[in-house]
Amino acid sequence: MDLIIRKYGGTSVGSIEKIKKIAQKTKYDIKNNKKILIVVSAMGNSTDELLEKANQISKSPNQRELDLLMSSGEIISSTLLSMALQEIGIQSKSLTGFQAGIDTNSTYGQAEIQSINNDRIINEIKKGNTLVIAGFQGFNENLEITTLGRGGSDTTAVAIAASLKASVCEIYTDVKGIYTADPRIVKNAKKLDFLAYEDMLELANFGAKMHPRSIELGMYYKIPLIIKSSNDQEEGTLVCNSNDIKNLINKGIIMNNITENRNRVSGVTSEGNISKITLKNIPDKPGIAAKVFEPLSVSGINVDVIVQNISNKNKTDLTFTIDDKDFDKTIKTLEKESLKIKYESIMSGKDYGKISIIGSGIQNAPGYAAKFFDTLSKINVNIEMITTSDIRITCLIKNEDLDKALLKVHEVFGLDK
Ligand code: ASP
Ligand code: MG
Repeated sequence: MDLIIRKYGGTSVGSIEKIKKIAQKTKYDIKNNKKILIVVSAMGNSTDELLEKANQISKSPNQRELDLLMSSGEIISSTLLSMALQEIGIQSKSLTGFQAGIDTNSTYGQAEIQSINNDRIINEIKKGNTLVIAGFQGFNENLEITTLGRGGSDTTAVAIAASLKASVCEIYTDVKGIYTADPRIVKNAKKLDFLAYEDMLELANFGAKMHPRSIELGMYYKIPLIIKSSNDQEEGTLVCNSNDIKNLINKGIIMNNITENRNRVSGVTSEGNISKITLKNIPDKPGIAAKVFEPLSVSGINVDVIVQNISNKNKTDLTFTIDDKDFDKTIKTLEKESLKIKYESIMSGKDYGKISIIGSGIQNAPGYAAKFFDTLSKINVNIEMITTSDIRITCLIKNEDLDKALLKVHEVFGLDK
């Protein structure tokens, strides 16, 4: 379908004025023969405010009630935008996630979309309605309302785009697009014009602000995503298949600084407040890693980087990272399991951070790792751990070194050019 899905984030629909502006822009584009379907987040910080109210009543509110409560934020913004459109003569209707047929599993607060029954959406479009769909929500098999996890409206928008085979999904936000680094720290960070899904997925996992599941969906269903500011006319960042980017470059249609030989790094990201835990001298035999990580996962602790050493006399060391906030819980859990895991001691430290370079071309281009490590050494930053994927190299360093490392690495890889 020759349809554009537009998702507006919380700041973009943060006031009645802004909602009216979006309505005007939508009207203008419809008059210019564009077909548009809108997905909205809740206004401003209203989801936080709802959560805060619930927490004033209970520290662990009933999950069914909490999801139903949280879904109301997006219902407010969708109905207001639909009214604003009607007010200026555009036939429009708002739909909740339930009305839009967004079928999810039953994991309250973190539900996954299982399918979209889009009959209602298609019927309403056929009747000439510009739809405004409440993001972030769906319903489970018992017809209870679920939410998709914080920031989940992005995922609603891309899922709807996939279901309707839309030509593009535009994500309107309060920044101009995706940057080579966090512009709040790296003042000369550059907005990227184009980015491959894979790179964006890493950037979304490592600090940029999109819901990672939305990018996985876009990649799987090949929906081009455009991330742009709702305040200005600039182009934003196009996220699409890396082959499509190469084709566009080969045809001379676009120039870009991502896939050129000189620079295969798309961005540098950092993330702080990480703890490092080492279990010294655990028995090196089958099942031991499971004995460590199962109880942690049962306690809801998210383990990130894991490194196991080569064993020496059938003993080995196991090191992994967690969020600082889970530090006490992790140590307690490990101490409780000490008889089963049979470690000799626990070494631990808080206040680490990760810095990563990301780029689809890294795997085919030797020298990137060396250059990255050399840069850190030249500014006297000690590397505590290293992990890599096909398109990412990550170093664990001290939290306090993160900003200066980010600035230097950004400069050395020429991302400011
Ligand atoms: N309103 C929800 C949140 O604040 C969902 C979203 O903004 O995408 O997390
Ligand atoms: Mg968001």
